[in-house]
Amino acid sequence: MVNILNNIISVFIPSVCAGCKQKLSVNDQILCVTCRHELPITNFHLEKENSVKRLFSGRASITNANSFVLFHKKGIVQQIIHQLKYKGQQQVGTFFGNWYGTILREDGVFKDVDVIIPVPLHKKRLKQRGYNQVTTFSRALGEKLDIVFDETSFKRTKNTSRQVFRSRGDRWQRLQNAFAVIDEKNLKGKHILLVDDVITTGATLEACANILLKIPGTTISIVTLAVTE
Ligand SMILES: [Zn+2]
Repeated sequence: MVNILNNIISVFIPSVCAGCKQKLSVNDQILCVTCRHELPITNFHLEKENSVKRLFSGRASITNANSFVLFHKKGIVQQIIHQLKYKGQQQVGTFFGNWYGTILREDGVFKDVDVIIPVPLHKKRLKQRGYNQVTTFSRALGEKLDIVFDETSFKRTKNTSRQVFRSRGDRWQRLQNAFAVIDEKNLKGKHILLVDDVITTGATLEACANILLKIPGTTISIVTLAVTE
């Protein structure tokens, strides 16, 4: 019976590590022991004015900002994000959401947040990929932190990600018009936790935050799985 169950489970859960692609032992999920120990965890949640929060200073009024791990080119985290984003491995998001959510909850971070929102994908992109790579991570975080998950009140109305931009300013300008609030009553007066997979320049989250901040009484915090150094 156990064997049958394991076989059924192994169809859905890949038996290789999302970080190094080595075969996983039966007791491991998603990551092998080595990758788990080598994961560059930031612990930014222990400092209120961490580098993620500072990244947004003068750009958007952010209450609290945190990222779980550091993103290095060709490192474990890049591999993990690649699996999550392009290889359909949505369970990677659940795994990290559960892990990070447990840590944040224990340390009382984001305890006054009301609603958790993943950065939305444009419907065209959503159709291509079949899923939003931030959804499972956001949902698991929301469950661990006991925060309402909302994927419908805020939308991406313009697909800007594949366009070639003349300049960084041009990209910034277009991003400001790429998102829209669909259901203001769900968000009015709320402390919103915006979630993304990786922060690079922060331009996308900045644009989202500034649109959401136009709703009366809202405050915004940010959390991501990874941040580039
Ligand atoms: Zn590994």
